This record gives sequence, C-alpha cells and structure tokens, in this order.
Amino acid sequence: MMPGSDFRSFADPDTEFVLDVSETPRTVDGFKPGEPTGKVICPHCGEAASAPEYIPHPENCRQSGVTSEWYERTH
Ligand SMILES: [Zn+2]
Repeated sequence: MMPGSDFRSFADPDTEFVLDVSETPRTVDGFKPGEPTGKVICPHCGEAASAPEYIPHPENCRQSGVTSEWYERTH
C-alpha cells in the first residue's frame, strides 16, 4: 500500500505532521500494532494531540503557526 494518498493534507509542503501509529499490542494501548492511534505528532517539537490544531507547540517550534492554516483548509 502506498502511503500518502489518504493523508495529503499532512504532506502539504508548508506543514509537516506525523500520524501516531501503535507499536504495541492491542492489550497494551487498545490499538493493534501498525494501527493509527488517532494522535498527530509535530516532528519538530515532538508534541502530540488529537488533531494538528490542538498540538501545544512551544514558542520556538517553527510549526507553531501553521496548524491554523491546516485547520482553515480542512474545516
Ligand atoms: Zn511543533
């Protein structure tokens, strides 16, 4: 399966987010290995949230302002 086609909004040239994927058995965290947990991670600061616009970026994260752009395009 080719990654990317379902997540184009996350691969936008000016935004960069990673979908959290479970690495543990379902008995540990409720998700099977390889299954998305529903969390989105900012690779620049490492913070995560249920959606990109909710990630609590620190002030020095260069993506602290781009989450609103993503939000406007998808809502
Ligand atoms: Zn960030």
